[in-house]
Amino acid sequence: MARLKAPPRRLQSPPPRVGHASRQEAERARDAMRTAQADTNLRRLYATKRWRDPETGMRARILARDGWACRICATMLTGQHPEPSSPVVDHITPHKGNLALFWDEANLQALCKRCHDTTKQAEDRAAAARW
Ligand SMILES: [Zn+2]
Repeated sequence: MARLKAPPRRLQSPPPRVGHASRQEAERARDAMRTAQADTNLRRLYATKRWRDPETGMRARILARDGWACRICATMLTGQHPEPSSPVVDHITPHKGNLALFWDEANLQALCKRCHDTTKQAEDRAAAARW
């Protein structure tokens, strides 16, 4: 019964907030970690069969629907990543973790990497700045 001598871990005081000057700073650090974890979970969606299966995945479906052409500049999406003409399937309205928006075909469009990396990122920055 020796193992019962120590109190269960959850009853002990929380570990010291090493490296954080204040409680607020510690909370900020925890929030940042949670956000990073949420980002990681969202990025994993792009690795799912449902997204990237070359036959039945959402990405393939959107590229086929849009005729493998960029919806902004009409470039044929024949490039290999990271070439400017490589295909990017873009969320028109940023999904920000909203799964319905993530998987909504009406919210997806084929873009070339060049348009995605310039036009879209500029739009996103402008939208973020308006908040
Ligand atoms: Zn384009």
